[in-house]
Parts: sequence; C-alpha cells; structure tokens
Amino acid sequence: MPAKLSLQRVVESGLCTGCGGCAGIFPGKVTMAFNAEGYLRPQLPVQLSETENAQFASFCPGAGLRHVAPEAPYDSLWGPLVQIRTGHAIDEQIRFQGSSGGVLSGLLTYLLESGKVDFVAHIKADPADPLGNAMTISRNRAEVLDGAGSRYAPSAPLALLQQLLAQPGRFAVVGKPCDIAGLRAAVREQLVPAERIPYMLSFMCAGIPSRKGTLAILKKLEVEPQDVASFTFRGNGWPGMSTATTHDGRKQEMDYASSWGTILNRHLQFRCKVCPDGIGEFADVVGADAWYGKDGYPDFAERAGRSLILSRTRAGEQLVQEATQAGYITMESLAREEIAKMQPYQENRKKMIFARTMALRLTGRMTPRYRGLHLFRLAVTTSWRENLRNFLGTARRTWF
Ligand SMILES: Cc1cc2nc3c(=O)[nH]c(=O)nc-3n(C[C@H](O)[C@H](O)[C@H](O)COP(=O)(O)OP(=O)(O)OC[C@H]3O[C@@H](n4cnc5c(N)ncnc54)[C@H](O)[C@@H]3O)c2cc1C
Repeated sequence: MPAKLSLQRVVESGLCTGCGGCAGIFPGKVTMAFNAEGYLRPQLPVQLSETENAQFASFCPGAGLRHVAPEAPYDSLWGPLVQIRTGHAIDEQIRFQGSSGGVLSGLLTYLLESGKVDFVAHIKADPADPLGNAMTISRNRAEVLDGAGSRYAPSAPLALLQQLLAQPGRFAVVGKPCDIAGLRAAVREQLVPAERIPYMLSFMCAGIPSRKGTLAILKKLEVEPQDVASFTFRGNGWPGMSTATTHDGRKQEMDYASSWGTILNRHLQFRCKVCPDGIGEFADVVGADAWYGKDGYPDFAERAGRSLILSRTRAGEQLVQEATQAGYITMESLAREEIAKMQPYQENRKKMIFARTMALRLTGRMTPRYRGLHLFRLAVTTSWRENLRNFLGTARRTWF
C-alpha cells in the first residue's frame, strides 16, 4: 500500500512548491523559513492530525493539481481559455514599472478604484530584507505600483492567508501559478470562503530560483549583500534590468538575458521541473511576456512593455473588458498559434511532464497527481526521442 500523503512526505520528496498554503491554513502549527538550499519550506514543530493531513492533501499544489469542471473550454497546451490577447497598461508609469506591459498592476488599480475589491494582496520586496519577498496589502495605485515587477526569488503568498482573511472586505490575490492553484483548491474544499476572494491573478512562471540565485547576481555585480538598500529583478523598461542599489547610492545593473538566462535559471527548485502549470491554469486572468521573436525564439531587446493576457474564467473576462472600457488597460486579440512563439519554454515543458513524472513513478519516488491537464495527450503528440530524453534525464536525477 502506498505511504499516506503528508506534509513531511511532500517536503522530503522535493515536491513542495513553497507557496505557504499549509502555513496559511494551519497557522500556529506551520511556519515558513528558508532551508539550506535557499528555498522557502514549511517548518513543522508539531505534527498535523489525521484530519489536518487529509485537508492538506486536498489543496497542496505540490502534491497534485486537479481541474474540476473549468468554466472555459480546455486547450491541452494552454489550459482553460476564454480569450487570448496582448496589451498593456494605459498609465505610462505602470507600464514602465511593470514587468511586461504592467497589465496585472493596471487590473489591480482598476479593481481598487472601481471598488470591486477593498484591497489587493500581493508580493513586494521585504522592507526588512531587500533581497527577499513579503506578502503585502495595497489599497491604492501608489501601493500597487510599489509591487510592480517580477521578483525571481522565493515567495510564500499563502502563508499569510489568515491575516488577510482577518481584514474586513473582499480582496484580490496575485500569485505564482502554484500559489493560485493552492488557493483555488482551498476555496473549492471550503477551507477559504469564496466570496472573500473574487479575483485571483497570476503570471506565467518558468520556476522559482533559490535565494542563492540572487546572491550569485550580486557576486557578479560585485555588491555585498549587506550593502544592498534595494534590489529589483526586472521592470523599469521591458524586460528591464536587474538593479542593485547600495546604501551609499551606487547602482549596479545586469540585463535580463544575463540575469535570468545565465544565473537564475540554474537555481530552480526541483519541483518546478515537474510542474505542468507554469501558465496559471487556475487563475481568472494571467499576464505574461508577449515577447517579440525571431526564428521562433523570443529576443529580449528593450522595448515598451507588452503583456500576453489570458482570461480563463467569466470573472476574469469581465474584469479585463471592464478595465479596458474604463481606460486602465488596452488590448487586442491574438491567435492561439502565436502563444507558443512567445512562450516556447512553457510549451516544451508541459509536453514533457508526462515523461518526467513517469520517471519519478518508475524510480519509486513520490509523484505529483495531475488530473485533467491532458499530459498524456500532449506526450503522444511529441517525438518519442524527446519523451525518452526527458524520462532518462529525470530518472538519472532522482536515482542518484
Ligand atoms: C519566478 C517568476 C518566473 C516567471 N516566468 C515567466 C515565464 O516563464 N514567462 C512569462 O511570460 N513570464 C514569466 N514571469 C512573469 C513576468 O515576468 C510578468 O510578471 C508577467 O508578464 C506579468 O507582467 P505585468 O507587467 O502584467 O505584471 P506587473 O504589473 O509587473 O505585476 C507583477 C505582479 O506579480 C507579483 N509578483 C512579482 N513577483 C512575485 C513572486 N515572486 N511571487 C508572487 N507574486 C509576485 C507582484 O506583486 C505584482 O503584483 C515570471 C515571474 C516570476 C516572478
């Protein structure tokens, strides 16, 4: 009989995403802290009860992902899709400071200024640790703007769920795809009241780099961590520079192709390699980079920002339409075939997840349970050579 799913097993098997959902649902029993590898992981001084472990298994996105009757037609590659568009925030400052076209910050500003939510819960640089991330509450445009821009470092947005729920009013949450998958499941399992969180926004995610990735950038920039007053990974242009500003006002920068392409992507946690949802399948709206490309691959030349915008639910579609009518964002339709040109990594990874998870299973490792994500269907449309290569790569990694 297979061993029971428990929080310890998920963490020990390397399947924890670090979303913080367990700390948010079981406050007082679980907290989040950095492990030796530089990832956020649950700390569990006391055991969860049988009932709590069963609840945990029902929402933990590391243990598995499950679609239950998505509202929109399911595209095997790109998940539930109402509409596909590109666009950007109309507010030039939001567009500039945003990671891609500032659409997420534009939508958050609209949600607040239209009174559709009372506050927004999202990640910003941690005031106590400029290299780290903190979940924060924003109530106006300036506070939203303060959180614009991607932070390629561990974040655990769900760890503060109870503090967020203790605030009066309705709120929107922004998180990585795994954060939103966990939150959506917690709502489905009635562990979190649906009416309190009418909007869940996400972005495409190629994986979470360890804090060691940030330290490696600093080393290359010849900046000591203790000298850093602020650190941004992107934004202020598209894609924008990684920028370390020191207490004495020195600014050191690195372009995106170097920071992501040669450093951060070498520090991704194992769980992200077997993740079929880098594309925010459980969100209402997803923002991503609508890269311009050459020969089927994105180039990262600096330009005015442009976002890929996927609406996945009725609420998400209504939100982007209303925000457009109200003058917060602008958008135009995009053909489905264009997504893969902008996001080749996401296409390739989802196609390979069946082979990678088979390797986990056959080498006796705990394997995430994925339901309704069409992974087998995608695997059979991909060459056997690629499947075999990915199977062997994962098997080698987990066996030794
Ligand atoms: C680890 C990581 C990997 C990514 N991988 C891809 C990818 O493969 N393809 C792609 O197209 N885009 C990727 N992005 C997302 C991309 O950089 C943009 O965030 C996205 O295009 C939305 O841009 P925007 O201008 O609309 O968002 P903005 O207006 O800049 O808003 C960004 C929002 O994301 C939140 N946020 C930032 N960092 C984090 C974090 N670490 N955890 C949780 N929330 C956070 C902020 O609080 C803010 O609300 C990644 C982002 C991260 C953090």
